[in-house]
Amino acid sequence: MNRYLKNNLSKEIQEILQSAKVLICGCGGLGSGVISNLAGLGIGTLGLCDFDKVEITNLNRQFIHKYENIGKFKTESAREWIKSYNPDIEVKTYAEPAKEWMFSEYDIAVDCTDNFKIKFQLNDFALNTDKPLVHAGVQGEQGQVMSIIPHQTSCLRCVLGDNSEETENSGVISPVVNTIAAIESLEVFKLIANKEAALLNKVLFINFKNYSFKTIDFSKNPHCIC
Ligand SMILES: [Zn+2]
Repeated sequence: MNRYLKNNLSKEIQEILQSAKVLICGCGGLGSGVISNLAGLGIGTLGLCDFDKVEITNLNRQFIHKYENIGKFKTESAREWIKSYNPDIEVKTYAEPAKEWMFSEYDIAVDCTDNFKIKFQLNDFALNTDKPLVHAGVQGEQGQVMSIIPHQTSCLRCVLGDNSEETENSGVISPVVNTIAAIESLEVFKLIANKEAALLNKVLFINFKNYSFKTIDFSKNPHCIC
């Protein structure tokens, strides 16, 4: 029996997913959720980029990392989970900061980092290599998701200007970060399967305190580097 039967997708779309290559920048809170969702969909190649090691304080929300993997690189711990779940997926690991050349080797990149300075770097790598990027972020009980098709739709700088101050990550509960990771994964699916996404030229803001979902339009800023 085909393990993707219950994806309920056409053979063509399932084959497109299985030949797709996705670079996941960050294997922590957002990354763990994105990795498990993309592995379930059957994405053929997953690139994992993260220079952090698994710590006990990650385990409240990062379910792919096992207790026994504390102290290992997150990329290695994530590779172990993927291979035990779906050995057909090809996995490449980069235990170092994301670089522009990595983007060139994939169809799409996913921003699963928790640091705005790096988020802006990833935005610029996507623009320079002309690769779509799905951005997401979580702060406390709020999160946001947007998709970027370079030079066609608004980018992170169109939305936030050049305000790339470092932000401190004070942690987040699992249902919040995993919900944002699920929506981020859905955007990756839409970009691969349909060549478009629901969150182009707009940002979805979710406030989990009162379940407010707001989609705000952001057209391309004519003064932006993109
Ligand atoms: Zn822009």
